[in-house]
Amino acid sequence: MTHSSKQNRPGAGWNFENSYARLPEAFYVRLNPVPVRTPKLVIFNVALAQFLGLNPDALKGDEGAAVFSGNRIPEGAEPLAQAYAGHQFSSFTMLGDGRAILLGEQVTPKGERFDIQYKGSGKTPFSRQGDGRAALGPMLREYIISEALHALDVPTTRSLAVVTTGEPVFRETALQGAILTRTAASHIRVGTFEYAAARGKPNDIRALADYTIRRHFPDLATNGNPYLALLGAVMKRQASLVARWLLVGFIHGVMNTDNMALCGETIDYGPCAFMDAYDPNTVFSSIDHNGRYAYSRQPQIAQWNLGRFAETLLPLIHEDPQKAVSMANEAILRFSDTFRHCWLAGMRAKLGLLNQEVDDGALVEDLLDCMHRHGADFTNTFRDLSSGSLPEASAFQSLDFKQWFERWRARLKRQPDSWEAARRLMHTRNPAVIPRNHRVEEALEAAVERADFKVMEKLLGILSQPYQDLPEQADYHLPPPQSAQPYRTFCGT
Ligand code: AMP
Ligand code: MG
Repeated sequence: MTHSSKQNRPGAGWNFENSYARLPEAFYVRLNPVPVRTPKLVIFNVALAQFLGLNPDALKGDEGAAVFSGNRIPEGAEPLAQAYAGHQFSSFTMLGDGRAILLGEQVTPKGERFDIQYKGSGKTPFSRQGDGRAALGPMLREYIISEALHALDVPTTRSLAVVTTGEPVFRETALQGAILTRTAASHIRVGTFEYAAARGKPNDIRALADYTIRRHFPDLATNGNPYLALLGAVMKRQASLVARWLLVGFIHGVMNTDNMALCGETIDYGPCAFMDAYDPNTVFSSIDHNGRYAYSRQPQIAQWNLGRFAETLLPLIHEDPQKAVSMANEAILRFSDTFRHCWLAGMRAKLGLLNQEVDDGALVEDLLDCMHRHGADFTNTFRDLSSGSLPEASAFQSLDFKQWFERWRARLKRQPDSWEAARRLMHTRNPAVIPRNHRVEEALEAAVERADFKVMEKLLGILSQPYQDLPEQADYHLPPPQSAQPYRTFCGT
């Protein structure tokens, strides 16, 4: 199989620019995806394609299969593998796109710019021992969870298409190979800066920082100290992002510095999952033995990762190393307050609170403690509260919960807004549906074992409107049936 490169059926709507490829050469290696045998387009995100300015009709069927497998390179793309490093579970490693290829940046009709990246597209110089490939299940899983987070208003990379390759990939057993096309505001990671810093080339770090500012924080270009301002701006986006994760019960699972994007989008869906019963120590990842990336540790880890980012910027922040350290420290120390502010604002909205009282934090924390003690479902508890009367679920029948409920009702009465206004707000912040783990597994099993994509399509449809509460979707609200085995997730490599 050879590339019939640079051919393009007219009208697909590709509009590539390749600004990343103008960075110093150290940041990437130019290469095409490795062609695959018999690509088949199994899922395609029509709404996202339209948003990107692509023509879905021109990208269906064989054309879509050829393009989204990497067998045909769209005109204007300059494929490359990005170089980066990362702290994985706190140890530093040189990494890079070992199984991904950045095609280029699609500029949308509105002038927004999105990376188009293939994941699972074959070996690159960064593949180390890996085969450069991905299995169908994990790629569909990323598709489902990233699209669900998007619908929940959480910034995230998105999923445009999945193709099967017609080639097996060998993990513990032989699995179907697949390629995910994902879009992102960019793939610049904390690890991209760490890579430049580890190579000890100050000009490269500066070029990358200037590029990041131009691409994501253009207002900072005229700042007196743009690099310190960059650190502060990235810190704010991470604080807001992690707060949003916590507000919907999401656990990323592998917050290594290579999996933290400076644009503030959730990136790299491996062992991530949503929590059912509220427990701040929840961990799903099979490799996270010490709970480093547990639900409630996510803010702390984001801050730790920001420390690694800050270290790479020190020479740019101030020529006096000690001054640079104290300026960077000050910026990072602000993370806790910024995070707390985002989280509390989100929690107030979840409880229908439209104004502020000093005890609101305690009110939220007491609710969470109560939920933890009674093993209450995170998503359903908040959604149930918006009914206004004491919900019927068993957790609500305990004395501590009833007392909390009265406190909350009294608090609602002290605000000028009506219950109706509070309820409306609650209904836009407390999803009725999240990608419940058993539902995700069910959809993946149908797709992978029986080539039946209908279960997944139905699930995606429901997840695309998570705040809607239709009676016929009631089954999708249910937590998983009690099982002896706790849910486990895997990195999916
Ligand atoms: P991740 O755990 O997905 O964040 O990946 C960590 C690193 O391993 C990145 O450099 C990936 O490109 C690389 N990697 C993961 N899976 C594979 C694979 N199957 N083949 C080659 N490289 C891989
Ligand atoms: Mg990664």
